[in-house]
Amino acid sequence: MVYSNDKIIVHKKDSLQYIEFSNLKKYHSMLTHCFTTRLGGVSTGECASLNLSFNRNDLKENVLANYHIIAEAIGVDFDKMVLSNQVHDNKIWYVEEADAGKGLTRESNITGYDGLTTNIPGIPLVTFYADCVPVIILDPVKKAVTSVHSGWKSTLLNISLEALKVMKGRYNSDMKELQVAVGPSICKNCFEVGEEVYGMFIDAHPWCDGYIDRKNGRYYIDLQGIISQELTDAGVDPSNILVSGVCTKCNNDMFFSYRGDKTKTGSLAAIVMLK
Ligand SMILES: [Zn+2]
Repeated sequence: MVYSNDKIIVHKKDSLQYIEFSNLKKYHSMLTHCFTTRLGGVSTGECASLNLSFNRNDLKENVLANYHIIAEAIGVDFDKMVLSNQVHDNKIWYVEEADAGKGLTRESNITGYDGLTTNIPGIPLVTFYADCVPVIILDPVKKAVTSVHSGWKSTLLNISLEALKVMKGRYNSDMKELQVAVGPSICKNCFEVGEEVYGMFIDAHPWCDGYIDRKNGRYYIDLQGIISQELTDAGVDPSNILVSGVCTKCNNDMFFSYRGDKTKTGSLAAIVMLK
C-alpha cells in the first residue's frame, strides 16, 4: 500500500482509491488526471476489482461499471473517453473531437498505438498499465497533453522521445515548459531480466548501464530512471519530471501487476483530460 507524499496524492472515496501526481495537480484548472489502483471496482477474481481493460479475463459489464465509477469520481464524461489499444510499439495517436468514445462506447480504429495526445478540451485519454511505465506529459503553456505506455519494449523504442517530438511538432511545445509524471510501474528490484534483454538495452542506450544492477547473472533494470534520464537529455527540465518511485509489484495489494499476479491480472489506467 502506498500513501500520499510530496509526489503523489492518494484519493479515497469509499473503497475506491486513485492517485494524482503533485506536479500535474498544480495545473488542475486546465487538467483533470488520475492513475487508477485496483481498488474500488466491481470486478472479481484475478481482475478484482477496478479492472479497466476489455482484454482481460473479465465481464464486459463489469468493466463498463468500473468506467462509470472512475469517470464519476474524477468528473469526466464517460461517453467521451478514448481508449488506446496498445502493442508495445512507439506510435502516438492525435485524438480529435471525432474520436470521442472510441474503444468504450463505440468501435475504434485506434489500434496499434501506445500513446494518445490531444490539445482539445473535454476528451479524456485512457492508456493501460500493469507494470509498464505510464508517462504523462503536460504542456501548461500550449495547453496540450500526451500519455504514453512505456513498457520495456516501448522504452527501447524511445516512446517518450516520440512524445516530445509530437509535442514539439504539433503544439510547438518548449521542452523547458513541460511537466512530466512517471507513474507507478515495476521497480528496478522487481524488473529482473536475462542477458538478452540486458543486451538490447545496452545496444539501444549505451548510457543506461548506471540504471541496471547485476546479481548472479541476472539483470535488474530501472525503467523509471531510464525514461527520466532520456527526457532530461532531450531538454526537459529535471525539476519538472516527477518520478513516482512507486512499484506496482511491490504494492500488488494496491495495483495490478503482470509479474506480481503471474500474468493473471487486470489493468490499471492513466486518465488525462484538458478542461
Ligand atoms: Zn518492486
